[in-house]
Amino acid sequence: MTSSQWKPEDHIPKKITDLLKKENSDPNNYNCITAFYHTVSLLKEQKRTGWLDMKVPDPESIGDHMYRMSLIAMSLNKDRFQKDGKSPDLARCTEIALVHDIAESLVGDIVPNDPQVGKPEKHEREYSTVKYLASIIEPYNPAFAKELVDLWLDYEYQRTFEGTIVKDIDKYELMLQTFEYERLHNVHLDEFYSCQVVIKNPEMKKLAERLMQERTTFWASKK
Ligand code: ZN
Repeated sequence: MTSSQWKPEDHIPKKITDLLKKENSDPNNYNCITAFYHTVSLLKEQKRTGWLDMKVPDPESIGDHMYRMSLIAMSLNKDRFQKDGKSPDLARCTEIALVHDIAESLVGDIVPNDPQVGKPEKHEREYSTVKYLASIIEPYNPAFAKELVDLWLDYEYQRTFEGTIVKDIDKYELMLQTFEYERLHNVHLDEFYSCQVVIKNPEMKKLAERLMQERTTFWASKK
């Protein structure tokens, strides 16, 4: 299926679209915003594809992943992230982290090596979904509808300092989760650490290195 065929409105559950059809009888637009809340609930149910492929038992959801990323963004020390003499806006990072995978509610979690869906197609589907979600929110809260798209674009195009930090947090959070599954299930999941080389920010690199030391110590203790 190409992007010309894939439409977010075809992937939203009927029980949610039924609410949107009642828009005319809802002058306060509560149905619209409730439909948005029901849609993001799908992020709690959707398990991350990488873990399903590896048959990790009861793996985390996309919502779980974004939740911890948001806490990481909130808790970092901004003074350790300097660029051109400025610290990042970590509140903005937290907001970006909270929405960066929101399109997966309808698109699903497409992994980078998916043979069916290439990178441009993945981008098209996700961007169209974010714009669609914004159109659902807009009657209730036009300012947030615009903000949602802006936050997502910050991440997708790495167009701000904050967007680049969240990209690094995305990889770091995956490494944390990988180690936790290794420890929990006593399995090696080496390939998931390949994302470490993508981390750019020096402070995030140090955190990732620290985690890898913890992992080395763990596996050494098992010998
Ligand atoms: Zn993510």
